[in-house]
Amino acid sequence: MIGQRLIKKTEALLEKEEGTVYKDPGGRVNVCLAYPNTYHVGMSSLGFQGIYSILNARDDTVCERAFLPDESDLKEFERTGSELFSLESKRPLNRFDIVAFSVSFENDYPSIPLMLRLARIGAFSSGRKEREPLLLLGGVCAMFNPEPLSDFFDLIFIGEADSSLDELVESYKGSEDKGSFLRAISEREGFYVPKGYEIIYSDDGKIKERRTTGDFPRTIRKRTERVLNGRLRPAITTPETEFSNMYLVEAMRGCVWSCRFCVAGHIYNPPRHKDIGILKQEIDLAMKTTGRVGLIGPSLTDYRYATEALQIEGVDFSITSLRATPKAEKLLSLMKGHRSISIAPEAGTERLRRIINKRITEEEIMETAELILRHDIHTLRLYFMIGLPFETEEDIEGIIDLAKNIRSLNTRGTIVLSTSTFVPKPFTPFQWHPMTAEKTIKARLKMIKSGLNIKGIRVFHDVIKYAFMQGVFSRGDRRLSRVLYDMKEPGRWKETLGDTGLDPDFYLFRERSFEEILPWDFIDAGISKEALWGEYMKARKSAGLH
Ligand code: SF4
Repeated sequence: MIGQRLIKKTEALLEKEEGTVYKDPGGRVNVCLAYPNTYHVGMSSLGFQGIYSILNARDDTVCERAFLPDESDLKEFERTGSELFSLESKRPLNRFDIVAFSVSFENDYPSIPLMLRLARIGAFSSGRKEREPLLLLGGVCAMFNPEPLSDFFDLIFIGEADSSLDELVESYKGSEDKGSFLRAISEREGFYVPKGYEIIYSDDGKIKERRTTGDFPRTIRKRTERVLNGRLRPAITTPETEFSNMYLVEAMRGCVWSCRFCVAGHIYNPPRHKDIGILKQEIDLAMKTTGRVGLIGPSLTDYRYATEALQIEGVDFSITSLRATPKAEKLLSLMKGHRSISIAPEAGTERLRRIINKRITEEEIMETAELILRHDIHTLRLYFMIGLPFETEEDIEGIIDLAKNIRSLNTRGTIVLSTSTFVPKPFTPFQWHPMTAEKTIKARLKMIKSGLNIKGIRVFHDVIKYAFMQGVFSRGDRRLSRVLYDMKEPGRWKETLGDTGLDPDFYLFRERSFEEILPWDFIDAGISKEALWGEYMKARKSAGLH
């Protein structure tokens, strides 16, 4: 049963959309694509939209969507005893064949068991009945470490989903039951069946052994698309997203720079550039539904066809991150009239930028900032991280000095300085490194705020306690599925860890050794552990350590 107020609100959202797909579910594989955050956030995700259009392009499949209800709707669900339902047909999620979650942020993990509860679907795969939907997980977090979520899911897809979705549906259609489907699909690249593995822990809490419990592969090879073919299918546009009616087009995947802190710069490699002809076709298609196109890519200044793309008539491009290089001048002249452009120096001194392998000099940053401020751009955004490995107070003073120096170039526009807390990520050279203590992060943030309390500069920062929650789930193991299930609210992650007998410091503030079995070691992401360790050693050496 579903409350009328919830139905009306859903109808109002659907009315604002262009490109929604409605299909008769009869005789088709029914997939509900779920996003563990609100409609606004989920609909802003290019990956989520891509899966929706790929699945709906198949005649034998219907794909609908579901999101985490916002605060007021959650109360309404409770008040009316409603079950979580899909937007398009308003069917409860437990009536679908497959419920597929796409997850892009660790801090969305607690919403997954919450949504399963609302959907009246058994949260743990071990206790779920044959008639309940098959639960599938994908998305960037699944690609680098799905273990904290592994007890919830029957199947996890590790890699870039584009072409694998056809294999998934074909295999599902050809299988008699869940068990035979899971056995068959596990033989294909990128498909991981967590139930097929058992983890043994040592007394000190570290992983002692990882065993297969059946005929499952020891390692799972991440799936990578060879070329970016484009998404020549319509996406949904709506004013109710971060990009408001903007059609997002992926121009590039992967990044040449391999900054040592950046997971995207490692797991999406090798870098692939979308052919300009295909990009133009996609833009033509987008122009049929909206007049605004946003180019997406990790470091778009490096996109081979960036200047050609920016010259396409009638399209409002939005490039949000400009790498401080000489090529920026040409791009900036083509971007006249943009309100906001950003540079990400990430650290305040040449020393720390060398440690993290952010190859931008102070001179390049200053030159690009000067260009941006000269080009009639209202806001220059500067991105920095706090708590980077081997960071000292001089590096924080460096951030303050750099921002002041940029401000002194001229008085035009506003400088918005955003800081985020560094979180070590799997498949990066810093995967072994501890996080910096909370009180140090707070003190350094305070230094920045008081040092930059000047006209024409505004400082924003993340919520520090959630960075630590992210730190736990990013490098966590499967014991955390229970923690996620028991967590009554996201703010209580520390207490719930304690109640489950786990120590937050074990996950956050411990330096791992090269020999330790890391929860994500079973993924073959095409990056050798030795090479990452070598990079970590180089970073230590740059910091004067051995
Ligand atoms: S931080 Fe930016 S430039 Fe560096 S590796 Fe990541 S995406 Fe590339």
